[in-house]
Amino acid sequence: MAEYDLFVIGGGSGGIACARRAASYGARVALAEAGRLGGTCVVRGCVPKKLTWFAAQLRRALFLAPGYGWRTGEIGFDFAALLSARDREVARLQGVYRRLLREAGVHLYEARARIVAGGPPHVVEVAGERVRARRVVVAVGGRPSLPDLPGIEHAVTSDWVFEGHYPLPRELAVVGAGYIGVEVASIFRALGSRVRLVYRRELPLRGFDLELRKELASALEREGVDLLPGTRIERLERAGQRLRLVTSMGELEADLVVYATGRHPVPNTRGLGLEELGVRMNREGAIYVDIGYESNVPGIHAVGDCSDHAGHGLDASQHDLTPVAIAEGRALAERLFHDNPELVAYETVPTAVFGIPQVASVGYSEERARELGLDVVVFTTAFRPMLYTLPDLPARTFMKLVVDRASDRVLGCHMIGDDAAEIVQGLAVALTAGAKKADFDATVGIHPTAAEEFVTMYKPRV
Ligand code: FAD
Ligand code: NDP
Repeated sequence: MAEYDLFVIGGGSGGIACARRAASYGARVALAEAGRLGGTCVVRGCVPKKLTWFAAQLRRALFLAPGYGWRTGEIGFDFAALLSARDREVARLQGVYRRLLREAGVHLYEARARIVAGGPPHVVEVAGERVRARRVVVAVGGRPSLPDLPGIEHAVTSDWVFEGHYPLPRELAVVGAGYIGVEVASIFRALGSRVRLVYRRELPLRGFDLELRKELASALEREGVDLLPGTRIERLERAGQRLRLVTSMGELEADLVVYATGRHPVPNTRGLGLEELGVRMNREGAIYVDIGYESNVPGIHAVGDCSDHAGHGLDASQHDLTPVAIAEGRALAERLFHDNPELVAYETVPTAVFGIPQVASVGYSEERARELGLDVVVFTTAFRPMLYTLPDLPARTFMKLVVDRASDRVLGCHMIGDDAAEIVQGLAVALTAGAKKADFDATVGIHPTAAEEFVTMYKPRV
C-alpha cells in the first residue's frame, strides 16, 4: 500500500494550495480530484465569471465612448466566440495547476476518493487502489442548493451559466440576490438581455452594509435590471418555449431561469466515509473544524467551502471565497509540516461582488459594529465619477468608513462603484495593519481618482 503524510481529497482552491505548501516542506502528498482540476473557482466560478463580466463591461464602455468623441457605429457581439475563448482560458489554467502539482512532487489521482478505514493512518480508496495517509484533508467544496418546489428541474444554476455553451438569453429571471444573483443579473443585463432579479427580502446582498445594499438596489435599477423584491416563487412551469414563474406577487415569463439560492457542501461530503468515522458535520454537510482545521476525528481535516469554522467563532459559510480556501489550505500545511501556528486573518477578509457596478467591503458593516456594542463614527461620500460626466450618464459611487470612536480604528470600508474591488483590496492591508482614521487622514491621495475620496472624508455623518 502506498503511504502518504497527507492525502488531499479535492483539487480546488483549498486542496491544491494545501497540497503544494505541504509538499514544499518535504511531506509525501497525494491529491485526488474527481471532476475538473482547479475546482469551482477555475472551472465554474471566479474565473469564467470574471471573463464574462469583462465582456459585459466592454459593452457598457461602448455607451460611454461617443461622449469622448468615438464614432462606434454598428458593432456585433459573438457570444459563442466569447464562450469558446473562455473555455480555452480555463483549460490553460487547468494545465498550469497540473504542472504546479507535478513540479511540487504531489501525486495526482484524477478520480473520486473516499476514506474506507479510520486511523491514523487512515485508509483511502482511490482509482481502485488503497493507500495509507497519516492525515486526510477534505477540500471537496460545495454545490448549488435549490429549494424543493414544483418545476425546479426547469431552472439552471451558475454551474450551467459559467461552464456551459448556450445562446445569449433574450430574457432571464434570476432567483436569489446574493453574490451570484447580483453578478449574473448584472452581467446579462450589460450584455443586452432583459433581466428580472427576484428575491425574497427587501434588499439584495444580505450581510453587507445596509446603505451599500440600498445604493446597490438603486444602481441595479439604473442599469436596467428589473427588481422584484419581497417575492417568493411558488412553482415553475413550461410555457411553450419559455418558462413561467408563479410567484407570491403574480406570474412572469422568461427564456431562462437561473437559481442562485446559495451553495452547500452536501452532497460532496456524503459518501466520503465521514459519517462512518463519526466526523461531525453541520446541517448543510460542512465539517466542523477547530482552530487547526481538524475535525473531531484525529487526522481528518477540512478547509475551504466544505468546512464549518465554528472553532473560529465564524458562521459556516461566512467566507466561502477562493482566497480564504487558499489561506486555510496553506495555514493547515504550515501547522502540520512547518510548526507554524499562524492563523488566517478572518476579521479583515475583503470581499467583492462583481456586479455592475461592483460592491466591495472589508471589516464590519455599520450594523454589525453596533450589534457588537461598539460606538462608531460613520463617514460617507457619494458622487458621480468623472468618467460619466462627458457622456452625461447617471452613475454614482458611494463610499463609507466605519470608525471606532474610542480607539479611532477603522473597522470597516465599503464601496459601490467602478473599481471597488481593486480599491478595497488596498484598504484591506490598512485594516489588517490596524489603521486609524488619523492614518487615513494623513495619507495623501492620488488625483484625480475615486480612491482618493477614501482619504479625504473629514466630516462625520451626524
Ligand atoms: P472547490 O473549488 O469547490 O473544489 C472542490 C473540488 O473537490 C472540486 O473540484 C470537486 O470536483 C472535488 N471533489 C468533490 N468530491 C470529491 C471526491 N470525493 N474525490 C475527489 N475530488 C472531489 N470566490 C471568490 O473569492 N471570488 C469570486 O469572484 C468568486 N466567484 C464565484 C462565482 C461563482 C459562480 C461561484 C459558484 C463561486 C465563486 N467564488 C468566488 C467562490 C469560490 O469559487 C469558492 O469559495 C472556492 O472555489 C472554494 O474552494 P474549495 O477548495 O473549498 O472548493
Ligand atoms: P448567497 O448566500 O450569497 O445568496 C443566496 C441568495 O439566495 C440570498 O439572496 C438568499 O436570500 C436566497 N435564498 C436562499 N435560499 C432561498 C430559497 N429557498 N428561496 C428563495 N431565495 C433563497 O449564495 P450564492 O448562491 O449567491 O453564492 C454562494 C456563495 O458563493 C457566496 O455566499 C459566496 O461565498 C460565493 N461566491 C462569491 C463570489 C465573489 O466573491 N464575488 C461570487 C459568487 C459566489 P436571503 O438573503 O433571504 O437568505
